[in-house]
Amino acid sequence: MTLPVQFAQRMRALLDVEADAFLAALEQPPRAGLRVNTLKLAPDHLLDLLPASLTPLPWCPTGFLVQGDEPLGKHPYHAAGLYYLQEPSAMAVAEALAPRPGDLVLDLAAAPGGKSTHLASLMGDEGLLVANEVETSRTRALAENLERWGVRQAVITNDDPRRLAERWGPVFDRVLVDAPCSGEGMFRKSPAALAQWSEKLVEGCSLRQRRLLDTAAELVRPGGWLAYSTCTFAPEENEAVIAAFLARHAGFELRPLTLTGAALGRPDWLPDELARPDLSHTARLWPHRVTGEGHFVALLQRAEGPKTMTPRAKVKDAPRPVRAAWRAFVQATLGMDPVKDAVLTTRGAHVYALPTKALDMERVKTVRAGLWLGTLERGRFEPSHSLALALRSTDEEGLEGWEARRLDFAPDDDRLRRYLQGHPLEEPGEAGWVLMTVSGYPIGWGRRAQGIIKNFYPKGLRWH
Ligand code: SAM
Repeated sequence: MTLPVQFAQRMRALLDVEADAFLAALEQPPRAGLRVNTLKLAPDHLLDLLPASLTPLPWCPTGFLVQGDEPLGKHPYHAAGLYYLQEPSAMAVAEALAPRPGDLVLDLAAAPGGKSTHLASLMGDEGLLVANEVETSRTRALAENLERWGVRQAVITNDDPRRLAERWGPVFDRVLVDAPCSGEGMFRKSPAALAQWSEKLVEGCSLRQRRLLDTAAELVRPGGWLAYSTCTFAPEENEAVIAAFLARHAGFELRPLTLTGAALGRPDWLPDELARPDLSHTARLWPHRVTGEGHFVALLQRAEGPKTMTPRAKVKDAPRPVRAAWRAFVQATLGMDPVKDAVLTTRGAHVYALPTKALDMERVKTVRAGLWLGTLERGRFEPSHSLALALRSTDEEGLEGWEARRLDFAPDDDRLRRYLQGHPLEEPGEAGWVLMTVSGYPIGWGRRAQGIIKNFYPKGLRWH
């Protein structure tokens, strides 16, 4: 790899005796990681199911290093949301923020959703996850990834962080700022990051990151936690951002991180006036020390203080015919209501189940108000792909006990491959909606009439 000369010089000056090992590591191929969706199954169970060689990662109990080059992004279990393919070091961030079930959590720069899916799993899908992405073009990938993950207690927003701070104020238990950065830690994976690097970019990112972190702080409740992360090595974008933040925010302090395998932050790389010793509480993942790319994480806690009121949504329940159509669908197809405690709402013909822990979403640019259940088509309910993926065997009664009409496939069944390609299937049986599953895990819908199952696997996701 041809590194920018200035970058190599900077890293040599910073890393000194470690520089050779670091620069040699950048010549090695990047490592792939996989994180298990514990909303759907336990890691041990996935290891039994998936024919891949996976070794555990020290800093994330649900994360694994993938050995070999099986195309795991093109496996039915991936389509069923059983795992997420994520760069190994990136898995340290949600572990550091450690959200708890029931928390109100904000992921301020969420697309494409790697860390949001991780946060949702750590929360056990209880509480509320707000996944925000300011770039509209990136919200589709975010929505698809959270959909595949089967998250119910989440909303997806597409707003400017400043507007969110003005709208909601300091109400979140946990806030994550996975900041846009110069991407030095991704040089092995991303030729684009390598091509666009310059010292000027590092400076520009640093300014933007300071502003973003200031805004994020306005959203953290007293006693709440704020995590800041980047995938870059430059101290200007890491320790210096935190030092400047702490100098302006006396009410926040760094919490020491205990991420197995991670190195300490480096206050000694900052000018004397910024070099506070507690910056060593931040963490760095180095490609020459761990099996992953470069990452930086800091965890800040806001001082305790009087609680602020969380602005609640004033939502109108869906009209009676909509609720009746949903109930009829539940009765005919599922046998139990997977969102029985949720308020249903409509947006045009689309029906959503709102998260049980609601926030006021008025005047917030919302992409998904909750779990999209489906659409009313001429008075009849048509289930969404999101609903299929959000059905879990861990539900109260368990999928096993459901009277859902379903058709289960082994992952290597040719009929499943044809289904994922968008073909109809010839399968005799009762007419109506059919939940398609792989090894018992929902993967999409079909609708049977006269022995033919019409394919409802979303066109944009079909295998070619
Ligand atoms: N957290 C994501 C994940 O794990 O998949 C990756 C986030 S990426 C490192 C940073 C994100 O910040 C990008 O999606 C980018 O669009 C967004 N972004 C860029 N400028 C921003 C700004 N000024 N405020 C907030 N987000 C911004």
